[in-house]
Amino acid sequence: MVQPYKHEPLTDFSVEENRQAYLKGLKTVESYLGQDYDLLIGGERISTEEKIVSYNPANKDEVVGRVSKANQELAEKAMQAAVNAFKTWRKTKPETRADVLLKAAAIIRRRKHEFSALMTKEAGKPWREADADTAEGIDFLEFYARQMIALKNGVPVQSRPNEHNQYGYIPLGVGIIISPWNFPFAIMCGTTVAAIVSGNTVLLKPASTTPIIAAKFVEVMEEAGLPKGVLNFVPGSGSEVGDYLVDHKDTRFVSFTGSRDVGLRIYERASKLSGGQIWLKRVIAEMGGKDTIVVDREADLELAAQSIVASAFGFSGQKCSACSRAVVVEDVYDQVLNRVVELTKQLKVGDPTDQGTFMGPVNDQNAWQKIMDYIEIGKQEGTLLTGGEGDNSKGYFIQPTVIADLDPKARIMQEEIFGPVVGFTKAKNFDEALEIANNTEYGLTGAVISSNRAHIEQAHEDFHVGNLYINRGCTGAVVGYQPFGGFNMSGTDSKAGGPDYLLLHMQAKTISELY
Ligand code: NAP
Repeated sequence: MVQPYKHEPLTDFSVEENRQAYLKGLKTVESYLGQDYDLLIGGERISTEEKIVSYNPANKDEVVGRVSKANQELAEKAMQAAVNAFKTWRKTKPETRADVLLKAAAIIRRRKHEFSALMTKEAGKPWREADADTAEGIDFLEFYARQMIALKNGVPVQSRPNEHNQYGYIPLGVGIIISPWNFPFAIMCGTTVAAIVSGNTVLLKPASTTPIIAAKFVEVMEEAGLPKGVLNFVPGSGSEVGDYLVDHKDTRFVSFTGSRDVGLRIYERASKLSGGQIWLKRVIAEMGGKDTIVVDREADLELAAQSIVASAFGFSGQKCSACSRAVVVEDVYDQVLNRVVELTKQLKVGDPTDQGTFMGPVNDQNAWQKIMDYIEIGKQEGTLLTGGEGDNSKGYFIQPTVIADLDPKARIMQEEIFGPVVGFTKAKNFDEALEIANNTEYGLTGAVISSNRAHIEQAHEDFHVGNLYINRGCTGAVVGYQPFGGFNMSGTDSKAGGPDYLLLHMQAKTISELY
């Protein structure tokens, strides 16, 4: 009997044994830096001339590894492998499919700190953030395995005399999994295994800046006993391989997590019929955010400041759920703002391999430049109170930045920056604060810091976000506890890690038999 789901605890690094375990993980990773990784197609390892090179964003001369790069021909080969494997995988018992996930979770749990340390090197994640990413990936494996077992017999429906009706779920077919770099393990793993455990076969195209952690995950899935062709690993350029696979007639669904613009492009392309295609493709698209913490007049202001700082600057603000806007009622605006600036100045920015580092680098030169450009815009639109400096000489570092006194419609308050920048706006009262909180095209996460019950209830009804948090920060959703997904331009609200998620990868079939 499978035990009930319990989420993976975060590691307490103040315990010396845990600290040593992480350092050992780092040593293991350092022993294989710079290695080459192959594509995996139908169980066959394929090496290509052309490679995607993964660099350490904290030390851009350090090569984390090189992966082979799929082109359209290899993407086609992978598609055919997935089509073939689907014939048997769809009939494999749900319990057997779930077992592969549970075994993978056990393998990764044993190598937990190695996986985290690899993300410290490849994505610039400080210890705590990397540890949370690995834990979330393990949670997805454990949670979806159990969800599949719960769904395997479908849902009871009524039957009349001499009639037997059944209602069950069957897999869709071949899915294309396209994942982002910011949760290079958790989201890549979660979206892949949800599709697989539901009986589908997949092609995984990871983000081009973080393919090594994905290659390691693919190795684990093989070790866990996943049959050939069920998971095909095809790193490649989004525009070349991505478009080709999204457009393909044999693609049954696309599970995408990433930016608004790429999500929209995929949504549009997937809606067009390709020659020979006989279904409507399904698209799961989880996209960007512009997330707000609202601070009420009656509120624990220390909690408000701590929540804003943690949510704005954790992993350098590179979370779709990051707090990039603070909307504070005017009576307490100065107090909250001053405290946030004070706390922000205490944050340590630097090499994420150092245990004491709170914030590492941003993802790459493009991200660095984009964020620095936004900071310039912010200086014109509001008042820069702290931060604002960047240094890309060794790695892509940017100081945590607070910009105050912004108009609610300022670009800094409307556009996703995806970096360590938080903008402040003053509201006359709670009603106006909520109005401002809702005034972007996104609707992913939001938080309200208030001790006024009526205002909290008002936020339940009127704060239009997929994940609303009361009296805490707006990041850190836990699988099985806070199913995750957003409204409006934040995507299709798939609610990853929730009870409905696997159903998005299946279709319901009714069977009625007369006796
Ligand atoms: P991105 O640039 O949109 O890339 C995401 C993935 O899409 C990558 O694998 C990328 O490949 C691929 N891609 C690019 N162009 C493509 C195309 N034409 N067809 C198919 N695939 C294509 O996003 P990102 O910079 O990696 O991630 C950051 C964004 O993700 C932010 O907007 C963030 O808010 C969002 N996000 C949302 C959630 C959520 O749950 N809502 C969670 C995490 C992140 P390449 O790397 O090869 O370009």
